[in-house]
Amino acid sequence: MTHLKNTIASNEPGLSIRNDGGAERTPKEPLAPDFGAMDDRSVRAWTEAMSVAPLGDGRYSVEGQSDETYVVDLPESGCTCPDHTIRGERCKHLRRVVIEVNRGRVAPPGRVRGICEACGREAFLPEGGPPLCDTCRLDPGDFATDRETGDTVVVARVTGVRADEVTVGSRGRTVADYPTNEGYPSDDLVVEVVYPFSRSGVSFADLPRYSFPFSRLARREESLVGPFDRY
Ligand SMILES: [Zn+2]
Ligand SMILES: [Zn+2]
Repeated sequence: MTHLKNTIASNEPGLSIRNDGGAERTPKEPLAPDFGAMDDRSVRAWTEAMSVAPLGDGRYSVEGQSDETYVVDLPESGCTCPDHTIRGERCKHLRRVVIEVNRGRVAPPGRVRGICEACGREAFLPEGGPPLCDTCRLDPGDFATDRETGDTVVVARVTGVRADEVTVGSRGRTVADYPTNEGYPSDDLVVEVVYPFSRSGVSFADLPRYSFPFSRLARREESLVGPFDRY
């Protein structure tokens, strides 16, 4: 599993893409950017009437005053408008998308606006990943505590399937049916974990995996870097 990191940056102050996914932004933050940090073209790009809509894969459609619609490709720093394609300018459409992403108004590349399955809050969720916000999500290598036993486990993988859809063991019971998982939502996503200290001399990737409903696990602050990088 790759961590979503935006690596786009520009040389202009106030126009680099922040790396936090924009998910934690509060509505209290003023919507007007710091004009002092922007050059004239960026100020115009922000104040002109344009509507920006994410298309996925880091692409955005930008519709301006004259009804023309252009497509900005943020990872490529490209735009389909003549200002960019012919004159090679860092055009107002590209600038506008950068500002909107930085302000948390549209999803950054690799994210989509949605509702977090665990906390029910609106957030920018990973595109094609489990529908969990940055606060709730578990990543491979994260330590977690099993709320039932207090055991320490390490997350191997967060699956995209629900606890009542995954069968485990020989009796064909689902994760949700397990007596110890009673009381946890049956539509929880299934998380695969290992017991990191169960066998010495066995690498993490080779330890047996166990399936848990998401909310049975409490994330801890520590995490292991590396053991599940290949998943
Ligand atoms: Zn443009
Ligand atoms: Zn959440």
